[in-house]
Formats: sequence, C-alpha cells, structure tokens
Amino acid sequence: MIDDPQTTRRQKRREKRIQNSRRQCHCCRQTFMFCWRCRCGFAICQACMHENAWGMTCNGITWTCPDCGGQNGYGNQ
Ligand SMILES: [Zn+2]
Ligand SMILES: [Zn+2]
Repeated sequence: MIDDPQTTRRQKRREKRIQNSRRQCHCCRQTFMFCWRCRCGFAICQACMHENAWGMTCNGITWTCPDCGGQNGYGNQ
C-alpha cells in the first residue's frame, strides 16, 4: 500500500498582502504608496491633501487631522 499525503494538499493565494503595504486614503478610498498619516490612523493621499490644504493647514508647516484634531508635521515623512 502507498500513502500519498499530497492528495489533501491545499492551495491558497494571499494577494491581500500586497495591499497591506500600501495606504488607503480616507478621503478618496484609493490606495497609494505614500499617504500623509496621523497617529490615530487617519491617512490622506497627496492629491486630497492638496485639495483640502485650505482646511487642514494654515501655515504650510503642520496639518490638522480631521479625525482627532491632532497636529501633524508636513515635512517629516
Ligand atoms: Zn485621496
Ligand atoms: Zn488623527
């Protein structure tokens, strides 16, 4: 008799890992290689940040998170 353990083998693909390394913009819901991030988890892409800059920053040095109201630096990422 021959035992063949490979007859029960399973194949799984995990393509979600690719998206894990990217950031999803909380504004437009698209994923980007780079997003501005807040410590609370909020993320926004460069395009949305540019569009909303008038409401999120008043000095061009820091931006205010709309979720938690925290201040984040513009140039330290
Ligand atoms: Zn966006
Ligand atoms: Zn925040």
